Amino acid sequence: METTIVTLTDEKQSEEAIREKIHAAGQVIRQGGLVAFPTETVYGLGADALSPQASRRIYEAKGRPSDNPLIIHISNMEDLKKITKNVPGPARKLAEKFWPGPLTMIFEKSDIVPLETTGGLRTVAVRMPNHSIALRLIASSGGFIAAPSANTSGKPSPTRAEHVAEDMTGRIPLILDGGSVGIGIESTIVDFTEGTPMILRPGYITAEMIQEVIGEIRIDPGLTARDAEAHPKAPGMKYRHYAPKADLVLVEGSREKVQRKINELAEEALGEGKSVGIIATEETRAGYGHGVVKSIGTRTDADSIARHLYGVLREFDQLDVEIIYSESFPASGVGQAIKNRMQKAAGHQVIEV
Ligand code: AMP
Ligand code: MG
Repeated sequence: METTIVTLTDEKQSEEAIREKIHAAGQVIRQGGLVAFPTETVYGLGADALSPQASRRIYEAKGRPSDNPLIIHISNMEDLKKITKNVPGPARKLAEKFWPGPLTMIFEKSDIVPLETTGGLRTVAVRMPNHSIALRLIASSGGFIAAPSANTSGKPSPTRAEHVAEDMTGRIPLILDGGSVGIGIESTIVDFTEGTPMILRPGYITAEMIQEVIGEIRIDPGLTARDAEAHPKAPGMKYRHYAPKADLVLVEGSREKVQRKINELAEEALGEGKSVGIIATEETRAGYGHGVVKSIGTRTDADSIARHLYGVLREFDQLDVEIIYSESFPASGVGQAIKNRMQKAAGHQVIEV
C-alpha cells in the first residue's frame, strides 16, 4: 500500500486548501480506511469507531494485541451520549473543565459501539482532543474516530509525522502532517465505571487538577507496582510499552550521585564493547564524558521533558544504541506521567544511588 503524507503546516496554504485536505481524509475514514493525524498529546491512528472492520484494521497496522481497547475521539459534547450509557455528574464536570484536552474518561458503552473497538469490554474510553486538525477530521469523518497512538505496538509513541512514517509507511494510506505535537505524552485516563473515579494512566492532567474539580480520586495501584504480577486495570498499561530497542536503565538519586553512577556504568558498558546512550538535561549534559549524550529538555520546565521524551528514544533507536542510561526527573505535576512512561520504557530497570 502506498502511504501519502499530506502537509497541513505550510503557511502558504489557503484555509480552503486545508479544509479540502481534511475533508478528503474524513472520506477515507468514512470508507473504512486508516488516517494518522496529530492531536495535542501524540499522533493518533484513526478509523471509524463504529465499524468493526475499520477497528480491526487498526490492530493489524499496529500489531496491537486485540484485548487492548481503543479510545474514541469526539468533537462535541452532544456526541458523548450516543456512545455511552451512563455519564456521572463528576465526569460532566471534568469534561466541562478539561475538554477539549488531554483527558480520557471511561464509561459504560452504548450498543452502537462494537466490541472490536473496545477490545471486548462493555466499557468505552472517550476523549475530545484539543487540536483543530483532529477536531475537524473527527467532524468530517462522521463524529467518532477510534485512535490509539500511531506507532507500531510497543514502540515509543509518535510526536511528529516523521515518526508515524517510520512505523506506518506501507501500512496505511494517509498521514496528516500537523507538525510537532504540543504535549508529547498520552492523555490521562480516568475510569468512571466502578465507584470512586480512578486514574488508570497518569498524563498531563494530574490527580491534583482532577481533585480540585471533583474531590475524591483514586490511582490504580497496579500502576506503581514494580512486580509483573500486579495488573493495571487499563489493558494497555500491562505491556512493556513506549520502549526503545535498546535496554533502558533509569538512575535515581541526587544529581551528583546520578551523574557519577551513569558515568561509571557508561564507561563499563563501553569497555564491554557496547554502544551507549545517555539521557541528560540542559543543566547536566556537560557532566558526561562517555557515549552519545542527548538532552531531553530543561529541569526548570517539566513540559519540555514530556515534549521530547519519545523523540529522544526514537533518535537512540536510529543510532542503534544498545544501552541507554537515563537520569530521572522531578515527579511533580506532569512529572508523574513522565516517570510512569520512563519506568515502563525501562521495564522497571531502576538503579537507586
Ligand atoms: P493508546 O490510545 O495507544 O494511548 O491506548 C489507549 C489506552 O487506553 C490503553 O492503555 C488502553 O488499555 C486504555 N483503554 C481504552 N479503553 C479502555 C477501557 N474501556 N477500559 C480500560 N482501559 C481502556
Ligand atoms: Mg499507545
